[in-house]
Amino acid sequence: MPEGHKTHFIARQHTGMLADQKLQVTSPQGRFAADARKVSGKVLDRVEAVGKHMFYHFDNKAIVQVHLGRYGKFRELPSPPPSPVGQVRMRLKGDSTTFDLTGPTTCRVIDGDMRDEIVAKLGPDPLAGGKKSDVWAAFHKSNKPIGGLLLDQSVVAGVGNIFRAEVLFETRLDPEIVGRDLSQSSFDELWRSLTKMMKTGLKYGKIISVTAKEAGMPLAKIDGKDRFRVYGKKSCPRCNSAIQTVEVAARKLYVCQSCQRKKS
Ligand SMILES: [Zn+2]
Repeated sequence: MPEGHKTHFIARQHTGMLADQKLQVTSPQGRFAADARKVSGKVLDRVEAVGKHMFYHFDNKAIVQVHLGRYGKFRELPSPPPSPVGQVRMRLKGDSTTFDLTGPTTCRVIDGDMRDEIVAKLGPDPLAGGKKSDVWAAFHKSNKPIGGLLLDQSVVAGVGNIFRAEVLFETRLDPEIVGRDLSQSSFDELWRSLTKMMKTGLKYGKIISVTAKEAGMPLAKIDGKDRFRVYGKKSCPRCNSAIQTVEVAARKLYVCQSCQRKKS
């Protein structure tokens, strides 16, 4: 599933390639057709990302909200674009670039009030200037495990299953620690690890938790599972113990039970 770094990456890319242009917006598949007509022919001002949501702001005040969910994907097409392939929910055609969107969880036209309501329900987004102190306050009063809090979009926005596993591994924290038992210094470390990893993800357009030194190659060249230290791994790169999977907040979490033992 695309995590917060990806929505910010796409928002930057689409703003750069489509903003200040009159877009032709269509729904080849048909499910978004009525909403597409509300923004087609309008000028796109900018694309905003908050957590895992994207908002396409048009000059008539209409906003296209996109949530990619688990399967959503944008495909960049050459100009002129070929006929749509598969179930294309939305096609955004600019002056020289076209993007096709398939498989999103949400793709609809909303207004500014609705956008504000959606954003108000989200916790701070580390990539959108979200405040660390607000996330700390939410952790500090919670009796849920930190492995669950990290995935809760109302606590911190944009973190998904890979970031969760990788930051808990980097900071050696046991995912079952309850929020209110986490010390401020451990939280500080967790936050530092998370913001750094999300910024790297935004820079390269993919999650990378290893360092260039660990990988033995420049970060830009790392691909596939080599990018991770614990997610999807069989053995721990630190202590060589077998990586376990445990279920926390209904999602599979990869953990090294030998070195992630810190209790607070
Ligand atoms: Zn280990």
